[in-house]
Amino acid sequence: MKVTPQRVAILEALQSLGHAPTDEIIRKVQELSPYISPATIYNTLEKFVQEKMISRIPTDGNKTFFDITEHPHIHLVSEDHTKMADLEDDKLQQVVEEYLAKIPIPGFKMNRVQVVLIGRFE
Ligand SMILES: [Zn+2]
Repeated sequence: MKVTPQRVAILEALQSLGHAPTDEIIRKVQELSPYISPATIYNTLEKFVQEKMISRIPTDGNKTFFDITEHPHIHLVSEDHTKMADLEDDKLQQVVEEYLAKIPIPGFKMNRVQVVLIGRFE
């Protein structure tokens, strides 16, 4: 992947934000580099996901969160999808992955496992 000033700015924004929804990433990138358009940011985020530099975290809300941490880990998401945090529990991640590796799902080829726990932060 080519290194461009836009890509560097977007990576820097992701690094400073940790987990962030798309609108927050756009705001942060434009704070650092106002000339980068939202369309460029969207496209670059998609490319980063394809290149496995970042991951997209599914929530059942209408926001898409991106995460720059590459190693597999568990996500805690608030019920209203405004807050997200990492849970470092290698055991739980491993248990889920091992279980799914042993029991193939008919008609579905799994690429990776993302565990998302929905709840309330206290
Ligand atoms: Zn994470």
